[in-house]
Amino acid sequence: MSLAPRPTTASGPATASGPEEPSAPTALSVPRRRRFQPEVSAPPPAALREALQAAGAGQDLDAASAEVLLHARGDDLLELMGPARTVRDEALRRAGRPGVITYSRKVFVPVTRLCRDRCHYCTFVTVPHRLEQMYLSPEEVLTIARDGAAAGCKEVLFTLGDAPEDRWPQARAWLDEHGYASTLDYVRALSVLVLEETGLLPHLNPGIMLHDDLQLLRPVAPSMGMMLETTATRLWSEPGGVHYGSPDKDPALRLRVLDDAGRAAVPFTTGILVGIGENPTERIESILAIRDVARVHGNVQEVIVQNFRAKDDTAMRGADDLGHEEYLATLAVSRLLLGPDVTLQSPPNLSDPVQRAQLLDAGVDDWGGVSPLTPDHVNPERPWPQIDDLASTTAAAGFRLAERLTAHPRFVLDALAGGTRWIDPALHEQVAALADPATGLARADAVPRPRTAGLLRS
Ligand code: SF4
Repeated sequence: MSLAPRPTTASGPATASGPEEPSAPTALSVPRRRRFQPEVSAPPPAALREALQAAGAGQDLDAASAEVLLHARGDDLLELMGPARTVRDEALRRAGRPGVITYSRKVFVPVTRLCRDRCHYCTFVTVPHRLEQMYLSPEEVLTIARDGAAAGCKEVLFTLGDAPEDRWPQARAWLDEHGYASTLDYVRALSVLVLEETGLLPHLNPGIMLHDDLQLLRPVAPSMGMMLETTATRLWSEPGGVHYGSPDKDPALRLRVLDDAGRAAVPFTTGILVGIGENPTERIESILAIRDVARVHGNVQEVIVQNFRAKDDTAMRGADDLGHEEYLATLAVSRLLLGPDVTLQSPPNLSDPVQRAQLLDAGVDDWGGVSPLTPDHVNPERPWPQIDDLASTTAAAGFRLAERLTAHPRFVLDALAGGTRWIDPALHEQVAALADPATGLARADAVPRPRTAGLLRS
């Protein structure tokens, strides 16, 4: 197996400040350079050897050893991936599904592309004068959900900018005109609509949600999510950092969301964004922060380790994509640190098809949401793989691809048994209609059951 990184492509210059509005795509002439990645020296070979031996022996890794292992390349990387696979296989065995890799069949609903933040890598966000309407209408959302149901989808992912009404008067005016107190209020109403009209299960990804928000949203969504992205405060507080000018990317605030989601007992998806200028120490700190939340609250159902991909119409268009070997090392170290009780996800569309089997070799056990209908609105240049192709890749690596629901099986099984700790009882009927009672995974022949109107409106 070759782990050689792909050659990088030509791209344009970077700018260090967040755009007031996204800049238009430009002619690209300057070779891409790694402007946002800090220069890092490799550890002494003896330190890498020692850390590899500790990993191979199944010892718990401390932060220093984990950081050293991020540098494994070539044969060292192959050696690192072995114990990561062992932990993944143990995770599947404990979950009662050895040899099964999961995904969720879903549609993506971009409720609004307005946002109060200015992340330097974001191509999703736009400005009011480029939009015909500030938010998708309820009718448009229902059309997407119904088309998804007809295509066998069981999840509706609401993805959107963070609190745009705090930055854009046009967004505030739209909400006022339509009778919603906030964007989160509108997302809740849309979730009720989808549940009542289609029976598909909402997964909410609206940015910052504090404890009261989570309590209000809990009865309308079996799971929610927010990427931690990074604990590197300097990338948010210092000019030139990718999150400078983005109030919702303060790591302290995002860590509070993770803690609040745990206290609200919401099955929660989070993760890190790798290659946005964080150094190895910060990368390990980010993984360990998620591990702490998972251990304290038990609600972290899935950790996404997402590789940075530069987009040409963003301030980071001058940065290199994360190298493939560096990504594999980060996946493997994440798996070793997180252990066998958390699902590790890699988005399949952010790696090339020939690289996907290597993601499994590095300890991944879930492909996340894949849509047969709607694009990845956050990475529109990277189309989803066909689900049949993903199944073939997974089979060639020795696994079986199985569909899960938006909430992971352990939470689904708890709900099917009448448990009320995790998934709100208001959703149990809809979850049961889609779930395999033996495994907690999705039933391929399931028919969504729309929620009785009125029961969820208060
Ligand atoms: S918070 Fe999300 S939508 Fe808003 S600018 Fe950042 S990445 Fe884009």
